[in-house]
Amino acid sequence: MAGLLLKNISKTYPGQVTAVRNLSLEIQDKEFLVLVGPSGCGKTTTLRMIAGLEDISAGELYIGDRLVNDVPPKDRDIAMVFQNYALYPHLSVYDNMAFGLKLRKMPKGEIRQNVLEAARILDLEDLLGRKPKELSGGQRQRVALGRAMVRKPQVFLMDEPLSNLDAQLRTQMRIEIARLHKKLATTFIYVTHDQTEAMTMGTRIVVMKEGLVQQVDTPQHIYNHPANRFAAGFIGNPRMNFLEVSFKEQKNGLCAGLGGVLLSVPPVRGAALRAKGCRQGGKAILGIRAEHLALRPLEGRFPACPPELPLVRGRLEFTELRGAENYHYVTVQGREVVVRAQPEYRGEAGQEVEIVFNLAQAHFF
Ligand code: ADP
Ligand code: MG
Repeated sequence: MAGLLLKNISKTYPGQVTAVRNLSLEIQDKEFLVLVGPSGCGKTTTLRMIAGLEDISAGELYIGDRLVNDVPPKDRDIAMVFQNYALYPHLSVYDNMAFGLKLRKMPKGEIRQNVLEAARILDLEDLLGRKPKELSGGQRQRVALGRAMVRKPQVFLMDEPLSNLDAQLRTQMRIEIARLHKKLATTFIYVTHDQTEAMTMGTRIVVMKEGLVQQVDTPQHIYNHPANRFAAGFIGNPRMNFLEVSFKEQKNGLCAGLGGVLLSVPPVRGAALRAKGCRQGGKAILGIRAEHLALRPLEGRFPACPPELPLVRGRLEFTELRGAENYHYVTVQGREVVVRAQPEYRGEAGQEVEIVFNLAQAHFF
């Protein structure tokens, strides 16, 4: 069991590519930490530095209380699961799982005990005699996990372990890995570019962009309180709507002007925006999620709009049916806005619609 401490860690590859910049992070013992971000943001590099497969250019890495910058990978008590499984094709499932233990000269009986225990937890007991090519993708992934498990490491590192699986299996393995984490009660550090995996698996998420940490927090907190526009847009599916607005001071308080429509900003939010220097005529990006918008179809004539209920007109382009909830894509002043609606809502493509904005849940960037 161990927590980790990353202190101002940077990595510059030969040729001056700085893949990770000044990364500081405290990882708790038994935590499920997810590093998430677009391709090239430095996730794999971070994981490989923790594993000892890549030198650290600057900074300090502690596993437990031990400074491990110069400790070779095999002495770090860490196991890594790779995206491509890296199984030996000519060895059986049993021998694949036992391989690392044999190298370490563990007594045969103990190897057998560890492999059988991992096989039981991962539901591989009936497959121990098979070769990798006789397994499905999901089974191969479980063997790769098993090979990491038999060593009983202090920390598991996983680099996009589900990206070679089809969508349904990915969902299933997501749950299995989260369950495995509970069962093993060990620190997991998991890398993915997929925000759904990050949201559903992580006890905490680190959002990265271009080698820099953007935000570290629980999935729910990042979803509700994104630190910046990047985190707001990266976490959440569908993506948060972003619309350019300009502020107007009105008698009843600060408003965000969207085209010709004035959306009133809740007083508390208005005060916070003024404190940040937002004034009459100032511009900002309004960020609002699909579930904080609602749709009203235009039936014949326009109903009179009470001034406190801001309505923005647009054209319904198409609807994404998801079953329990549907997402409607509406063009507003040339911009696409996605709105969540209940399944009862019937709208047809091409129809003119009104969007109800509730700025209580809005963000300004
Ligand atoms: P991610 O896993 O988030 O996709 P990586 O950590 O693999 O990102 O890469 C981060 C950056 O470092 C990228 O710009 C990548 O091209 C660069 N990079 C990765 N590995 C090497 C390497 N061995 N040599 C030089 N540059 C590298
Ligand atoms: Mg990677």
